[in-house]
Amino acid sequence: MGVKVVKFGGSSVADAIQLQKVKDIVLSDPDRKYVVVSAPGKRYSDDNKVTDLLYLCKTHVDHNIPVDHIFQVVSDRFKMMEVNLDVNIDIGAELDEIKERLKPGVTADYIASRGEYLCGKLTAAYLGFDFIDPAGLIQFDEKGKHLAAETQKALSEELAKHEKAVIPGFYGSMPDGRIKTFSRGGSDVTGSLVAKAVGADIYENWTDVSGFLMADPRIVENPKPIERITYKELRELSYMGASVLHEDAVFPVREVNIPINIRNTNEPDNPGTIISDTPAVTNNIITGVAGRKDFVVVALYKNMMNSEIGFVKRLLTILENNEISFEHLPSGIDTVCVVISQKQLEGKLQDLLDDIEKRLQPDTIDIYEDMALIATVGLGMSRRLGVSAKLFGALTDAKVNVRMIDQGSSEMNIIVGVENDHFEAAIRAIYGAFVS
Ligand code: ASP
Repeated sequence: MGVKVVKFGGSSVADAIQLQKVKDIVLSDPDRKYVVVSAPGKRYSDDNKVTDLLYLCKTHVDHNIPVDHIFQVVSDRFKMMEVNLDVNIDIGAELDEIKERLKPGVTADYIASRGEYLCGKLTAAYLGFDFIDPAGLIQFDEKGKHLAAETQKALSEELAKHEKAVIPGFYGSMPDGRIKTFSRGGSDVTGSLVAKAVGADIYENWTDVSGFLMADPRIVENPKPIERITYKELRELSYMGASVLHEDAVFPVREVNIPINIRNTNEPDNPGTIISDTPAVTNNIITGVAGRKDFVVVALYKNMMNSEIGFVKRLLTILENNEISFEHLPSGIDTVCVVISQKQLEGKLQDLLDDIEKRLQPDTIDIYEDMALIATVGLGMSRRLGVSAKLFGALTDAKVNVRMIDQGSSEMNIIVGVENDHFEAAIRAIYGAFVS
């Protein structure tokens, strides 16, 4: 017998109908012993996530605006779930206690965490599993920094006492007992910590998509699913916008070689995507293509730049002093470009240019706005002849003008910069060239 840790996201626990699916999934495999839940998410597109409503309660309290109305919406949802699931955990009393604490001085983290807490209580009762409160187990220091080693020890000791349990995601506590949450989407991190603590064979992350697709379905019609992806490839694709998982969720399980399986609660027979360090055995050249719009390229030209020691160092110092992080830094003999997201530059462009002018005295500075970056990712690209030719040929055929090229040393990622207007056409062209 093995051990699987299963985490269900907000849409998977949005109401009693979804929780029925959760129960079927969990009980269909006796290895699914530890269940981590998010707070109830949206039931339909215009609906609110419970976590958002709870943060809104905190804003009301802070501004001295009556909070009853909003809290009632949250209460009604949980009470309805209790009735529809036919469990009795006295959710009314739990809600009264939370409401009692909704006063000035209440922390946003405490309030926000109650969505997971209540959902965990309901799910545990519904499955007949033990309930484990992560407060005191998932630990943060007094400044709010996550304490990985302490958490690992406390969590594994506690979990060893329970054969089957439900653990609310998203939060833990600080030394003085105050609740502390991870950043938004952080139940993924809890799932990963639990998987590591019990030495799980696999960490199943159940959501509302059947894993990763090779391209964004809003751009490419019916893109193929990615059956298996390595962490490195995932990092590249997520960074470029293909995000399903909280990025901090990868580290705990990766350290101990536990694969993550992204699955769809609404399509439980779909095998989803496996994320692990073992590359896929496949003939696919690329694993996926993803991109983001709205970058600015600042291109500097200076005669004999290549012999001016410290030029790029000074450029990076200027960026640092202006608190601007950059994405890429392609360079030529006498040129260097910095690719920066448009958001990063808001209100800072002129100061940046003045500093560059003053301290680096380039011959020219050119600014290219409204650029998109597209990453074509795949371990299968390395040491294969003709990959770039195919990629650029496809872009040429699609009449996409490539304004910038960057290839990391790993040979698993080719990044091209194109104009925002060519973004979709470029993605379609690359996908079409590599995926039949
Ligand atoms: N409920 C939290 C959020 O909406 C955490 C999570 O769902 O992972 O961000």
